[in-house]
Amino acid sequence: MKLTDFVPVPLPAGHPLPEEVRVGPGRRAELADVAARHLAGTWLRVGDPDTLAAAGDPLPDLEMFRLERHPHADDETVARAVAAARGAGGLVAIGSGTVNDVAKRAAHELGIPYVVLGTAASMNGYASGIAALLSRGLKITAPARPPRAILLDTDILAAAPLALTRAGLGDLLSKPVSDSDWWLADRIEGTGYSTLPSLVTDAAVADATAHAAGLATGDRDAHAALGRALVLSGVAMVVAGSSAPASGGEHLLSHLWDMEALAAGRETRLHGAQVGVATCISAALYQRLLRATPVFTEPPPWEDEAARLHAEHGALADSVLGPAKRKHDRAAARVALLRDRWPEIRDGLAARKLPTPAEVRAPLAACGAPNTLEHLGISRADAARVLRIARDIRDRVTVLDVAFEIGVLPRAIGDVLDDAGV
Ligand SMILES: [Zn+2]
Repeated sequence: MKLTDFVPVPLPAGHPLPEEVRVGPGRRAELADVAARHLAGTWLRVGDPDTLAAAGDPLPDLEMFRLERHPHADDETVARAVAAARGAGGLVAIGSGTVNDVAKRAAHELGIPYVVLGTAASMNGYASGIAALLSRGLKITAPARPPRAILLDTDILAAAPLALTRAGLGDLLSKPVSDSDWWLADRIEGTGYSTLPSLVTDAAVADATAHAAGLATGDRDAHAALGRALVLSGVAMVVAGSSAPASGGEHLLSHLWDMEALAAGRETRLHGAQVGVATCISAALYQRLLRATPVFTEPPPWEDEAARLHAEHGALADSVLGPAKRKHDRAAARVALLRDRWPEIRDGLAARKLPTPAEVRAPLAACGAPNTLEHLGISRADAARVLRIARDIRDRVTVLDVAFEIGVLPRAIGDVLDDAGV
């Protein structure tokens, strides 16, 4: 199916998007034909032992760049993939998050196309125009052209480890709060907002959410609905020209947990598993904002703020200072605007019909996905700490910043966690 038939609204021309998306049973058998339509010359397969086994080792005669088990999409792995693929006409990625990111970035660096056979509905990066990479210990996103074609075989998706599928749903559920953060940033800093990403994704997200229980029982329609919604979430980011419609303050909580784990040499948890729980927290924060009597809070002098950043972020402070300073430089202007326009902004937020924490948690619980801090192995004290400082790691304004600037945080951190029910 052409992407244009797959997306429910017309898309403006000029965006680098996949040309073809196929979701359904038996799609694996179409991989060779699809690759032949989109790739020239010789092709190189990219996968890891688990993803190849999950996909039934398709196209076994093709040369292979085999990642190690449990790979990371880091600089070194991308460099090895680029070296292995030099001279190839295209890549055939067989995998999900990490394999797709490595193949996407390697293909981008070489200026060659790639196609992907997804092995899990675990994240929304299949169609996106960015690769999530680990660069010198930091989680970054690098530009990378999306695949020419995406195949999601529901037989493979339904057999994938359930934890990956649950994480895919968790990542997807951030949509209403992420998009509201994007709207809020535009109202306050005029950074731009469009309803097009929502028009692309909302019906598919609602369909996937309604089918959540079926994810745990191997229902093919549920897996198809999740796969479609995740692909469209990636498309939404491409048409937005940014990850903003799918990544707001809730993602900052998840990113900071990852950065701290990596700095300490610990394994990270599944992205979407963290995002699902963080979305319950963000939903609770929005409910508090809507009811708040604002106490507009002027930013502290930068010297005090820099001292706080050093104290709270420790070894990560050096990488946090840059984005935090840029956002701090604009803080006084934001507070002035909030002081002038809060009732109007609050009414605009109220009209967005934000989900309650219970509405976020219900589909997570329906498929057995993590929906409490305890499910993630995170203490309440650590969640409170990360809720206080996650806004520091990115320049983009989110609900976390606004909550501080109207005085809801840090005062109500405990109440927000209680309201979130996590
Ligand atoms: Zn995400």
